[in-house]
Amino acid sequence: MTISVVMDDITDCKVDAIVNAANTTLLGGGGVDGAIHAAAGPELLAACKKLHGCPTGEAKITKGYQLPAKYVIHTPGPIWHGGTRHEKIFLQNSYRNSLLLAEKNGCETVAFPSISTGVYNYPIKQAAPLALNEIHQFMETAKVVKDVTMVCFDEQTFAAYQAALANLDGE
Ligand code: ADP
Repeated sequence: MTISVVMDDITDCKVDAIVNAANTTLLGGGGVDGAIHAAAGPELLAACKKLHGCPTGEAKITKGYQLPAKYVIHTPGPIWHGGTRHEKIFLQNSYRNSLLLAEKNGCETVAFPSISTGVYNYPIKQAAPLALNEIHQFMETAKVVKDVTMVCFDEQTFAAYQAALANLDGE
């Protein structure tokens, strides 16, 4: 059972499931969402249309189509409003509900992007420990999910998750 932090493009990850930091329409967007749709091909959008959106903090699953990953788990994280709109709970829900869905679908290996810390503006220094704590807690009782990777796309994000991982190890 491992949690790791790497610098990579999540669309290249050969895992059972990658998580998409989607929006509530599930119809594609910018950032990691746009990259995942571009790499998966048009079948992903067609599958997403049938899901009729997803509320913030919840998660829905599709196949990975042209991606090396078998599945894509779509979760809209919260938009940051200064911490005044239960953003923390919604972000924890996004991680937990994504992992629950991975577990239900027999996924042993899961890769996450840094949910909500791009366009949605969640402060990375708060998001990184929250994400890793939530993943760590889940893994204590997980029966199927074995390896979770946080896939970072820039140095600042990578540094924040590395620091959070070091604190987790030192618990
Ligand atoms: P959100 O709307 O949830 O904030 P974004 O896509 O704007 O989502 O950003 C979330 C994180 O995903 C950011 O750290 C961004 O740098 C990162 N990201 C963007 N493209 C990729 C990619 N191809 N692989 C992994 N991470 C990515």
